[in-house]
Amino acid sequence: MIASPVISSLLARTTKDKLTNWAGNLEYGTDRLYSANSLEQVRSYVKKENKLKVLGTRHCFNNIADSTDNFLSLKPMDEVVALKPEAHTVTVNAGMTYGQLCPLLHRKGFALHNLASLPHISIAGAVSTATHGSGEKNGNLATAVSALEIVTAAGEVVELSRQRDGEAFLGAVVGIGALGVITKVTLDIQPTYLVRQYVYENLPLSAVKDNFDAIESSGYSVSLFTDWQNQRINEVWIKSRVEEEQTFDAAPEFFGAKRATRNLHPIAELSAENCTEQMGVPGPWYERLPHFRMGFTPSAGKELQTEYFVPRQHAVEAILAVERLRDQISPHLMISEIRTIAADKLWLSPCYGQACVTIHFTWRQDWPAVKMLMPLIEKELAPFKARPHWGKLFTMPPGELHSIYKKLPDFIQLSKKYDPHGKFRNEFLSTNIFSS
Ligand SMILES: Cc1cc2nc3c(=O)[nH]c(=O)nc-3n(C[C@H](O)[C@H](O)[C@H](O)COP(=O)(O)OP(=O)(O)OC[C@H]3O[C@@H](n4cnc5c(N)ncnc54)[C@H](O)[C@@H]3O)c2cc1C
Repeated sequence: MIASPVISSLLARTTKDKLTNWAGNLEYGTDRLYSANSLEQVRSYVKKENKLKVLGTRHCFNNIADSTDNFLSLKPMDEVVALKPEAHTVTVNAGMTYGQLCPLLHRKGFALHNLASLPHISIAGAVSTATHGSGEKNGNLATAVSALEIVTAAGEVVELSRQRDGEAFLGAVVGIGALGVITKVTLDIQPTYLVRQYVYENLPLSAVKDNFDAIESSGYSVSLFTDWQNQRINEVWIKSRVEEEQTFDAAPEFFGAKRATRNLHPIAELSAENCTEQMGVPGPWYERLPHFRMGFTPSAGKELQTEYFVPRQHAVEAILAVERLRDQISPHLMISEIRTIAADKLWLSPCYGQACVTIHFTWRQDWPAVKMLMPLIEKELAPFKARPHWGKLFTMPPGELHSIYKKLPDFIQLSKKYDPHGKFRNEFLSTNIFSS
């Protein structure tokens, strides 16, 4: 037996037979799910099948991970392969999640540079879609990747490294599932550190207009949460490293916002029990950089998400453009989040060659309404050449995607090298990437 068909109870979430994504808004096109627990099993399975997609932890909201043929899960491959302090790297099997890796790293005295809002996601799935956290000086999570092991469509094992493979490596890291099966990921590590998190309430929108740079650079990672109502940012989350030069002065007031007196959820009505500790209590990096705690439901659960990356220099204009849509947006919104991300060199990263501000929307799960709103938001953000998050919902036509990703033709060439006959292609890739 090479790979036995397994539909684990963890994966079949909403009904007995139908496999869905995490949010339950997408029923996948097949429930043929195979599970591999070794590189050899992955290779044999890939050689045997004509069409397949790898499923990570299923946290994407669109059909980027979908398949009508076969799924391969690497969930059992969830171990650290090598921790090399002298090289400042850790290598993990691709089924591992950040939630599994981070406490292990911390115990050994190491840390990652940043994390997303939740630790529940697989490392391979997160870097494949350029998942990000926040912080003026922090690249997205894929920028920590220094090497990848990939099984190509022919079942060959390819290793690509930042040091050795130059452009091909930069093209492969944010691979949106098109190049092959990532079986190992090597990440940059640094000495472990502590982080304090403070939350402020009711920041006037005028303060964002006048002081955006100062607000965003006030901490190591800063998030602004707003429902776009009443000309204000509902909550400002400031995460600062507990190192002398980065300690945030937690005054009672911050640009007109007031320091919170209790832990808060970004969606104020929800329980802060699901959230990481606030109120300035120092804690390990992996228990402060995400907003949501491992072992608890992140965000709201029954929701939809969209997010757009705008070049950093247009941050304020773009925020004000979205704010003008408040009356249309707010009835369908749970919360929006605004973050910043440093520029990088990864071909399909929305931050390729440009630092970005991201404007994110957590919607109520009302697809007809969200489907109508997305084009309105995309139209407002079009003058800034906004790029959608690969793993969230968007309606931007493929032609526009091609016009804003100048490395797409190179990426298509690279994909064809590793997957000449489209074994890993699905409707998302055929429509958005390979359609021209
Ligand atoms: C509650 C919530 C909060 C979120 N917060 C953030 C956030 O803070 N920042 C942010 O940027 N995003 C965020 N996201 C989006 C999320 O990070 C991305 O959707 C991410 O890609 C999810 O990883 P996954 O393993 O679940 O991917 P999946 O949805 O399982 O797969 C995503 C893609 O990766 C490919 N893939 C997965 N594993 C492999 C592999 N081993 N080899 C090759 N291809 C692979 C899949 O084929 C697919 O194309 C959030 C999502 C949710 C649900």
